[in-house]
Amino acid sequence: MKIYHGKSVSQGIAVGNAFIVNHNEKPIIPKIKITKEEKVHSWARFETALSDVTEYYKTLKEGSNKEQSDIIDTYLMMLSDATFITQIKEEFDNSKYNLEFCVKQCTDDMASHMRSYGDSYFADRANDIEDVFGRVILSLLGKTSENLDDISENSIVFAENLSTSEAMTLFKNHVQGIVLKEGGVSSHISIIARTYGIPALVGVENPCEIVDNGNPIVLDAIKSIIVINPDKMTLFDYSKKVEELKNKQIELDKYRTKKGQTKDGTTIRIYANISSLEEAEIAKQEGADGIGLFRTEFLFMNNEESVKMATENEQFKVYSEVLKLMEEKPVTIRTLDCGGDKITSFNEILTSEEKNPLLGCRAIRFCLKRPDIFKTQLRALYRASVNGNLKILLPMVTNFSQVTQTRNLIKEIQAELDAENLPYNKDVKLGIMIETPCAAIMADDLSRTCDFFSIGSNDLTQYLIAVDRENTTVSDLYSELNPSVLRTIAWVSWVAKTTKTPISVCGEMASRTEMIKYLLTFGIRDLSVSPRSISSIKEMLANCTISELSELESNCLINKTIVKPAYEMLKKIDKTGK
Ligand code: PEP
Ligand code: MG
Repeated sequence: MKIYHGKSVSQGIAVGNAFIVNHNEKPIIPKIKITKEEKVHSWARFETALSDVTEYYKTLKEGSNKEQSDIIDTYLMMLSDATFITQIKEEFDNSKYNLEFCVKQCTDDMASHMRSYGDSYFADRANDIEDVFGRVILSLLGKTSENLDDISENSIVFAENLSTSEAMTLFKNHVQGIVLKEGGVSSHISIIARTYGIPALVGVENPCEIVDNGNPIVLDAIKSIIVINPDKMTLFDYSKKVEELKNKQIELDKYRTKKGQTKDGTTIRIYANISSLEEAEIAKQEGADGIGLFRTEFLFMNNEESVKMATENEQFKVYSEVLKLMEEKPVTIRTLDCGGDKITSFNEILTSEEKNPLLGCRAIRFCLKRPDIFKTQLRALYRASVNGNLKILLPMVTNFSQVTQTRNLIKEIQAELDAENLPYNKDVKLGIMIETPCAAIMADDLSRTCDFFSIGSNDLTQYLIAVDRENTTVSDLYSELNPSVLRTIAWVSWVAKTTKTPISVCGEMASRTEMIKYLLTFGIRDLSVSPRSISSIKEMLANCTISELSELESNCLINKTIVKPAYEMLKKIDKTGK
């Protein structure tokens, strides 16, 4: 029995057998001279391979969601692209070499031509064409791509990394877990794994070498460990745990259709945090009251986490789809939160190198320095606003002027849309993230410039305690239950109440049942959480009463701080209208 460690990007426990997807074992494509007669037969083989791969993608499309289905449609278009197929035919007719070699040459030429534009859109299409025609070549060679279609349901996949289409095949075949070398919490594969509730670890060194195909595996993505060849006792314990988790989930599923409500009848609205249309679909299935945080960073990322400049139309399409999907329910879309620990490759287009990116030109600071990027996003948002109940949220706000500058840009956009006769909703609410100590302390002033607050407890904790939320060496210091964090949240909620500013909490704290009671004590009634935790939160609420929570307030030492007197003062100001 051997134990390895990784980083959990999707929680859960899985017991199964290792299935290795080793991309390093690339097929050798032979280069052989062939005769004219052989050529005739070869072309028929090419047509069969094309139709086999087309069939493969059509099957993959069945039961896939809108986003996946769009990707597959692109692949199918490539497979039926008459110009490219003619190009391959001409190359083959004029060449002395075998078909596999000619297809590979044409694919490589086309991919490098696309990459030469230096545009991320074409770079993505170059990857797609390699993916799609790579399958055609494998089919010509009599191999299937990594045999992912034959994967059995109890598999735990070990790979350096996985492409989007590979991930889709795996999730469709109900794999139990994923162990990867590459990827981070925000990488595409991690997001898809969380969405589907599949336990996943990343950051595991040489994943394809530490196991053999078929080895019994325990993947504990709660403790972030993999046990290879577990002994009988370990296997027995974990099989029991998996069973318990399954039964618990069945019990929780009944909450999907119920409202969030405490035992004594207080309604708590539970919205979802999402990063894609796919996650919005899951949020809807899980019974979310709307979307409380749409992190749009993901639209600006390639699979490899490099920057991709999402066009206005690309963004408009995604925002509109999410708004339509959620119908009349609110959808809060946050503008680009880049820099800091997120898509750091945005630094490449920043004016200068940053020594301390977490305190640097991230989020709203970056957007105001790059109005071209910011205006493109705001235009896409305003155009999409006619498709549902949109709210716009600004990240990392630290002063009044950032909000007024944004409002001025919005006015410009509205004038442009008027001139272009494009419809938009004139009453889109504009909110701010309260995720810096400065915004929290100045919440009373800032409330005058925005329509709502959303507390980002992740960054608020990081900046209040001065502890990097990604740095495992100091992670023991990182806690939302630190009194400084609790007092700050209490203060902001009191300001919100006094100034009648709608408020919600969208940091991880809101997804954790042991922490929610503090938020309720402070008067928070709107939570935005990861979609898969909605049912367990509703269950927790159904078992607690608001009245029994009041003791927590004094436990947080609020009475002994300046918070309460300041709150009293605010109430007076409010009454006298000063
Ligand atoms: C937060 O900081 O709490 C938050 C929700 O934003 P993010 O995690 O995307 O930084
Ligand atoms: Mg944040």
